[in-house]
Amino acid sequence: MVRIGTPVWTLRREQLSTWLREQGEPSFRMAQLEEWLWEKGVPHPNAMTDLPVSLRQKLEETFSFPTLTLLHRRKSQDGTEKFLWEMPEGGKVETVWIPHSGRYTICISSQVGCSLNCRFCATGQLGLERQLHGYEILLQLYELRHTFKLPITHVVFMGMGEPLLNYSAVMEALEGITHHLHISPRRITLSTVGIPKGIYRLTERKERFELALSLHSAIPEKRKAIIPLAAHISLSELREALSTYCQRKRDWITLEYVLLEGANDSDEDAEALYDFVQFPLQAKVNLIEYNPVPGLPYRPSPRMQHFQRYLLKRGLIATIRRSRGADIAAGCGQLARRISS
Ligand code: SAH
Repeated sequence: MVRIGTPVWTLRREQLSTWLREQGEPSFRMAQLEEWLWEKGVPHPNAMTDLPVSLRQKLEETFSFPTLTLLHRRKSQDGTEKFLWEMPEGGKVETVWIPHSGRYTICISSQVGCSLNCRFCATGQLGLERQLHGYEILLQLYELRHTFKLPITHVVFMGMGEPLLNYSAVMEALEGITHHLHISPRRITLSTVGIPKGIYRLTERKERFELALSLHSAIPEKRKAIIPLAAHISLSELREALSTYCQRKRDWITLEYVLLEGANDSDEDAEALYDFVQFPLQAKVNLIEYNPVPGLPYRPSPRMQHFQRYLLKRGLIATIRRSRGADIAAGCGQLARRISS
């Protein structure tokens, strides 16, 4: 039995095909319906012209076909685009599309706002308004691909919110993204502040997503000063969860490290990072250029290259991620659902 008004996106394949059978429809209807929904991207029963009118009506009466409402779209000089949406169940979130050297990456949000309050992040200043549903996360990709006809090859959960604090909805979205939108788990990056319970749960899953951990400091006191959650989750507990992940998955992770002037960019910081990245943890380091946030006291570090060289000399893999979309406040940590920015 399907509840009247259930968003069609939340149904598993078996549920939809059972429902069609119950309506007395032949089995090939399933393929037709799926093609409309997922390949052609037409979530309007009335427009599904090769379905009988009676079935179109039943679809309309039985399910809802929610979509996102675009409030604002801005394009950066570097081609990056930012979309601000009103969600079907309320709340505003942002999605960023980043074309870069042959890749098309979509940066999606997993929550409306965020509960973590990381001191340097714009989203962190908002607090958590609510969790997104799985289908609301998925629709961010769906809309860009189908409504805005943008190519998408990679997905990163680096928009608003902490994906591992909305675990089941994120997993539901990932099922849709991999099965229906055909993006391989290896092209999907989950970025987390580090929730050990969520990391263990990910370890148990059969797919291998890319895992990125927002470390930002390997010195306990300094990490606590910029990431309040670190007061409750020690670096050793985190390292243990990550090491288990690497060993069981036979995989490497990425450590994200935003370089903040005077806060985490000294040689001592680099050395602590080096110590953190030792076997059984297997990680490459991604140094991130800080995008300044109005009203927050942090500045990008001028020591980026030096810091990278220090790590390289110690034998680590360390890359630099330059900011993209900063002129339209679409860079990491700048998303704050404001229309003006
Ligand atoms: N909650 C998740 C994902 C959100 S943000 C996480 O913590 O990983 C994605 C990345 O952007 C994180 O590494 C985050 O720390 C970083 N970030 C936040 N604010 C930033 C800013 N102003 N400039 C650059 N990176 C920022």
